[in-house]
Amino acid sequence: MQVYADNAATAKPKKAALEEYTRVAEEFFGNPSSLHSAGQRAKEVLTDCRGRIANLLGAEENEIIFTSGGSESDNQAIESAAKFGRAKGKTKIISTAIEHHAVLHTLEKLKKEGFEIVLLPVGTDGIVKLEDVKKEVDEKTCLVSVMLANNEIGTIQPVEEIGKICKERKVLFHTDAVQAVGHMKVDVKALSCDYLALSAHKFGGPRGVGALYVRKGAPLYPLIEGGAQEKGKRAGTENLPAVAAMTVALEDSLAHLEETNKRVTALRDKLIANLKKIPHSALNGDPVKRLGGNVSFCFEGIEGESLLLLIDDKGICASSGSACTSGSLDPSHVLLAIGRVHDVAHGSLRLSLSEETTEEEIDYMSREIPKVVEYLRSISPVWRDLQEGKRTYIL
Ligand SMILES: *Cc1c(COP(=O)(O)O)cnc(C)c1O
Repeated sequence: MQVYADNAATAKPKKAALEEYTRVAEEFFGNPSSLHSAGQRAKEVLTDCRGRIANLLGAEENEIIFTSGGSESDNQAIESAAKFGRAKGKTKIISTAIEHHAVLHTLEKLKKEGFEIVLLPVGTDGIVKLEDVKKEVDEKTCLVSVMLANNEIGTIQPVEEIGKICKERKVLFHTDAVQAVGHMKVDVKALSCDYLALSAHKFGGPRGVGALYVRKGAPLYPLIEGGAQEKGKRAGTENLPAVAAMTVALEDSLAHLEETNKRVTALRDKLIANLKKIPHSALNGDPVKRLGGNVSFCFEGIEGESLLLLIDDKGICASSGSACTSGSLDPSHVLLAIGRVHDVAHGSLRLSLSEETTEEEIDYMSREIPKVVEYLRSISPVWRDLQEGKRTYIL
């Protein structure tokens, strides 16, 4: 059996999105900046897509700019707010310890440039506390950046409330909504955000395309210089087929959002209940305030990488930690932030489901994963030490 359970890394593209990609690539190949009719027809498609995406997010058409994806959108929002803040002598940025590296590494860079970066902790449930946000926001603060849903452990953050705090205190607020858009209701007005990042390949669109919502009046500076595309805020010939495919993927996701979430959440909870039966295991993140498709576990006494490779042999594609950290030996910063010690954090597994996940696949994973965990423990020196009482169990 083949099970694709790594939709949080990249979701399988929707058929309708792929068809739209080829249709637009064939029929609207003109450059939207060209003055001839082929160019103008392409420009009309671009404008139409911008309006449709804006509409789905509760934004205005001129508040959406198209980018190459989540990383670029996060980078541009944060760099813009920082530049604007610096000019006014505000050099403090507040974010969280569990952000994606697209945010964290941008903040590290700004730190080297003299910004004060405060990364708020999260509880063992993986959720930021509002009091911590309130305590840190001061007159030196130019930006707060808190993700809507976490990519590793799926926890949903109280972004609506954080947005309100920022609005009251007149501080710019960015949210990385890459894991959330297409998977839960996202309305930029309800979130009171100034910037919101999204990426098509996380909801069934193509890779290499995304968008940034920028509230009218919020500062925005280009990362890429060149032509006057995207109102001069993002140079480069627009990736029109990808933008059109992203639009279709988002419309399709949101049209079936409620029924999809109901079904996927039930499958998620079944898988969680089954994996919990494995001794010395633990679910990562809040059991309820989490994405419908996210199942994240730590298993004591094993290495997540070995687990990943062995379940891959059984046809199950999953992830340990985040795709961006795998390959390095450091355990995931997110798992450390929720209080998992190094040894335990190394034994992590993320299964991310989609609307195409079936009951049979859940049953198959529920059967095969415990067997692989048991096998890996049988050859693990750490597990032997635990069993012989030379180490104490943490989970
Ligand atoms: C995937 C992801 C990103 C990066 O998006 P890309 O389109 O791959 O650049 C940023 N933030 C989160 C939370 C993500 O899951």
